[in-house]
Amino acid sequence: MSLTDLRDLRRDEIAAFLAAQGELDFRARQVCQWVYKRQATSVQQMTDLPEVLRQRLQKQMYVSTLSLLRRQRSEDGTEKLLFGVEDGNRIETVLIPRGDKRTICVSTQVGCALGCRFCLTAQGGLVRSLRPAEIVGQVLHFQEPGREPARDFTNIVFMGMGEPLDNFRGTVQAVRIMTADWGLGISPRRITVSTSGLARRLEAFGRADLKVNLAVSLNATTDAVRSRIMPINKAYPIDRLLQACRDFPLAVRQRITFEYVLLRDVNDSLADAKRLVKLLHGLRCKVNLLPFNEIPESPYRRPADDTVQRFWTWLVEHGVSASVRQSRGRDISAACGQLRYAEQSAARLTAPEG
Ligand code: SAH
Ligand code: SF4
Repeated sequence: MSLTDLRDLRRDEIAAFLAAQGELDFRARQVCQWVYKRQATSVQQMTDLPEVLRQRLQKQMYVSTLSLLRRQRSEDGTEKLLFGVEDGNRIETVLIPRGDKRTICVSTQVGCALGCRFCLTAQGGLVRSLRPAEIVGQVLHFQEPGREPARDFTNIVFMGMGEPLDNFRGTVQAVRIMTADWGLGISPRRITVSTSGLARRLEAFGRADLKVNLAVSLNATTDAVRSRIMPINKAYPIDRLLQACRDFPLAVRQRITFEYVLLRDVNDSLADAKRLVKLLHGLRCKVNLLPFNEIPESPYRRPADDTVQRFWTWLVEHGVSASVRQSRGRDISAACGQLRYAEQSAARLTAPEG
């Protein structure tokens, strides 16, 4: 029988397991403390549990950890970490420190099935979805006692490798563990989940009512262009996606972020900016412009800076708040999927022939 990973479980699931063993509820609190606050890596370390209980637990449960394979630091302070998971797959996490804050960009899948043309993670397709433990583990890594300088605020963005809503259960469970007081205790207002627009899943995600921020990768203003660069648009065209966004539950001051990757001569014209303003009319939102991070073997190019500027100016002058993402960590290719890709290419180059 394979063991269950305690880091995959919520407190109520741990409690149900323990209750079936005749244990009282406070034991679940103790176990959660060990797993999420004290970062025990084995059941044996949970020294305030009676030895017999530890023995029994150990036969069915264990605590997974990620192994850090590589860590690269960019000139601007952005750091990129490559982790190995139990089955030998590799995932990336990006850390962006800024004053007393830090942002941790987590992956939700190894690869991605959605095939966006401009995205490196898409190359090679989906290998598998990550378990909640593997998503939460990327954050827990930075909270290990003594490992990192303490920061007052941690923001989490689900913008690494993979499509969070294509790993719906893993993402929802990971958010629950991150936000619970028995878990990581991070406010949902500090968490942003980014999706390429699986509209039906987005509706279900809204019903889960996790109170996290939502980012939607819009990336084009016509169905023709969007379908070309994001095949998912054929299943959920722009109108359908924006309807799901309108229906998404938002708190009083909360807004949806629309991400827009700017690709030279593809979606960066003034006509696009004008259409974008119209499309977003009536939506409580802001736009985050992402000038394309050039990737190997891609037909796409980054627009000139003044094109980006012109696009941004049109939006703000027409009442849409917008920002331009400064490309952080460009010297360590910190865009999603790039470190794993670099490792794979290196492996290909050094692999013996035949
Ligand atoms: N799958 C989710 C989250 C991961 S991608 C999504 O698509 O939203 C996070 C963001 O990076 C998306 O907005 C995506 O459009 C953008 N992105 C992907 N490749 C990029 C590149 N090469 N340059 C700039 N932005 C990119
Ligand atoms: Fe997947 Fe997002 Fe990349 Fe599209 S942009 S292929 S959805 S990770």
